[in-house]
Amino acid sequence: MRLNENIMKLEQNYLFAEIAMRVRRFREEHPAAEVLSLGINDVTRPLAPAVSAAMAAASAEMREAAHFHGYGDVQGEAFLREAVSGYYRSFKVGIEPEDVFISDGAKSDLANLCDLFAPDSTVLLPNPVYPVFYDTSVMAGRQILFARGTKDNGFLPMPEPDIHADLIYICSPNNPTGSVYSRAQLQEWVEYAHSHHACIIYDAAYEAYIRNVALPRSIFEIAGAETCAIEINSFSKMAGFTGVRCSWVIIPRALSAEGQSLHRLWMRRQSTKYNGTSYIVQRGAAAVFSQEGQRQVRRDVEYYMENADLIRQALKRSGVFTTGGEHAPYVWMECPYHLRSWECFERLLSVYGIVSSPGVGFGKQGEGWLRFSSFGSRETIKRAAHKLAALDWDQLALWQISGGRRKEQG
Ligand code: PLP
Repeated sequence: MRLNENIMKLEQNYLFAEIAMRVRRFREEHPAAEVLSLGINDVTRPLAPAVSAAMAAASAEMREAAHFHGYGDVQGEAFLREAVSGYYRSFKVGIEPEDVFISDGAKSDLANLCDLFAPDSTVLLPNPVYPVFYDTSVMAGRQILFARGTKDNGFLPMPEPDIHADLIYICSPNNPTGSVYSRAQLQEWVEYAHSHHACIIYDAAYEAYIRNVALPRSIFEIAGAETCAIEINSFSKMAGFTGVRCSWVIIPRALSAEGQSLHRLWMRRQSTKYNGTSYIVQRGAAAVFSQEGQRQVRRDVEYYMENADLIRQALKRSGVFTTGGEHAPYVWMECPYHLRSWECFERLLSVYGIVSSPGVGFGKQGEGWLRFSSFGSRETIKRAAHKLAALDWDQLALWQISGGRRKEQG
């Protein structure tokens, strides 16, 4: 047999597996130590009652021969595509149900969309960014360029007209930095995409966390995006579906390349490689957009955002620089004393039992930064915030960590 040489180019461990491994080792070595996890991007709030009730009702419906559902519409059931369209209408964006494709998660959508584009496409990725953009591009054998996020540009890199890309990934609100593009900035990206005949793949997985109504929640709020962009969104972070699995992709019928409709090609691809999203799950997802469902899931989003406020305030009190956490469940912290990401991660874990995510795991530009996730119970976040607020960075910078054990220097 011969293997895909591109898969061998991946880092050995996915970032979150590496964090989990280090935390496991710490627990084994310090069984009595308290561990407060602010590292993983999984939700912790239970499903909204409206969602759970809709899935139970759908399951009961399937017990009756007359209401049984086998294979469904590969594009997604009309009731859910219409509900997605209605959701966009609620913030004044016109999306036709025909342009919506339902599937089982944004991660698979991001990977699967690679099927649409030429193997030798040049991809422009923000750095730092959600590792799946990079890994799926590596596996597809793409040539990868980076748009650098820095403290100076607020981790919102802008296009450089002389650099050519065929595909552009944008994540707003951003994982890991929590930064959000303004409408004017997205307009610039849309203009850049048009001038390079490029396609923007816009990941809006954290759209529900935007608290400022002036900020754009969809790339399709921008004039001209319907002929150069695809948008991905997910129920995972908006409604706690990380274990249920449901997402959507918007491919406008106006989007074409080389005389071909991307909508038609995606439909063809999905018909071959996908058999549709579970009916029960789609009923649960549609309930997210009911009045009751929205009230319930919004409350959970607010809960996480209050957690983010606690983390931000605590870090601020300790004297470090942070950004993000205002319209995203992630707070992005600059490591003081030029500590590297993994050094800072190890020290926080060893001395305070606090788990973060090393910024460098999201790309080279994340070196020297840490990400704190607000997806925890209020109790965990409060305990972590208490420790973080009183944290003595001068002292922490002097700790020497060796072999995962803690020992004070001097
Ligand atoms: N996109 C971003 C930016 C994410 O952070 C995540 C998950 O953490 C995903 C997509 C994946 O979402 P899903 O659970 O729908 O696969």
